[in-house]
Amino acid sequence: MKRTLYLKFLLAYVLFAIFGFIVVATFVYSMTYERLRRDKADTMYQFATQIANTYAADLYNAETSLDTVHTQIVALSRYLDDTTIWIVNPSGRLVLDSSRLLGPGDEIVVEGFDPTTTGSSYYTTGDFFGSFDQEMLSVFAPITIQSNYKVQAYVVVHTPVASIQASANDFLNISYLMLIVLFLLSLIILIFFTELVYIPLRKITTATEQYAAGNMKYEFSVESEDEMGYLAASLSYMAGEIARQEDDQKKFVANVSHDFRSPLTSIRGYLVAMQDGTIPEEMHGKYLGIVINETDRLTKLTNELLTLNNLNTKGMLLDRADFDINQVIRNVAESFGGTCMDKNIGIELVLTDEQMLVNADMSKIQQVLYNLVDNAIKFSHKGSSVKIETTEKHSKVFVSVKDSGIGIPKEDQKLVFDRFYKSDTSRGKDKKGTGLGLSIVKEIIKAHEENINVISTVGVGTEFIFSLPKAAVMDADD
Ligand code: ATP
Ligand code: MG
Repeated sequence: MKRTLYLKFLLAYVLFAIFGFIVVATFVYSMTYERLRRDKADTMYQFATQIANTYAADLYNAETSLDTVHTQIVALSRYLDDTTIWIVNPSGRLVLDSSRLLGPGDEIVVEGFDPTTTGSSYYTTGDFFGSFDQEMLSVFAPITIQSNYKVQAYVVVHTPVASIQASANDFLNISYLMLIVLFLLSLIILIFFTELVYIPLRKITTATEQYAAGNMKYEFSVESEDEMGYLAASLSYMAGEIARQEDDQKKFVANVSHDFRSPLTSIRGYLVAMQDGTIPEEMHGKYLGIVINETDRLTKLTNELLTLNNLNTKGMLLDRADFDINQVIRNVAESFGGTCMDKNIGIELVLTDEQMLVNADMSKIQQVLYNLVDNAIKFSHKGSSVKIETTEKHSKVFVSVKDSGIGIPKEDQKLVFDRFYKSDTSRGKDKKGTGLGLSIVKEIIKAHEENINVISTVGVGTEFIFSLPKAAVMDADD
């Protein structure tokens, strides 16, 4: 079997990892870098303003000497990591540098110094007018003296951008670490997927392949109480049903061909014997009678098959009418008079009321009764009796056909309504039976949206009970 689903899921997982790293490497880095740079610039600006307003202003108010201010500023630059503090004249001449001591002769000028280039922001990045060979973040604060509010000079605080990048990289590394942890944690999803979806799905696919190849007996189990478990259970139930139907079908074909063959063989045997004179002409009448009986059997079988086929077509059309069920029962009982006499079986009728109107398809209900009584007589012992009873309850009429015959084993009781079902014991007893009688009964009762049940004990007897709706007029009479 191809492992495509698993591969797809793995691919999704790998893509998730790659995109995760790309997003972290780009967005997280640029966002933290921006944030750190702004924070650093803010702190440096406050710092620069403070210097401009205190030590540097003192210098211009001629309250302190350049040397003292230099010492103070060197100390301050140490206080703020990795910074260089300058005091620059508006013309660009360096007055003071925390990183070196300027002698009186040192004339260092920042070429092209222009504090307005930063525009509205108070900081700039770059090599600061060519003064550094690495990229710097530089913050300005003007020094004004109170007497005339003129800008005397600027305090400029520099820090290498590389140090901010290093901090951003630290954050990036933490993010990578978190991503790896997250990635490992999401392996749990993969494990869950494998255990809960993939493995059961493989079992189910293997089973489907087996079923498709015709191995309906293939057994498998998925022990989970979720959709997968349900799917597996339904699938194996379906396979079981198909297997059973296949068995039934085979049994049926065997039965039907057997049932067709035996009358045909006997018909042929009699006809050949009549033709070649083995049976003398004066005996023809008797044997033709047997032949006719045999053809009747064949007709019965064919008719039953046809009936079932018609009933089976969806939405059986019922020719509903109000009729007296008691009368129908009497008629059916009467039609079995001959058979009953042969087997010495009595039919006992226990009918509620003289007349009992029901609303149903009369000819189909007649067939139901016919099949039930036929079975009752067929599976009864000589000299016993069959009881047909009607009772009413609420808006229903219940009809029961009860015999004291061989009975049906418990495990067979739910199968008797299945098509072609004949218990093996009865096969010997009743060669004529096709096993279709009760399935026809069931279809008819189902079409009426009513129920039929069987109660039976082996060796004691069997009772079939079905319900019918009372006719509306009867309700009015009540
Ligand atoms: P057909 O009705 O086509 O002649 P059949 O009677 O064998 O054949 P069904 O009427 O469908 O078929 O009955 C199915 C099986 O159920 C019977 O073969 C028999 O084994 C069992 N059965 C039905 N009714 C009774 C009964 N009253 N007592 C004992 N077994 C019964
Ligand atoms: Mg029958």
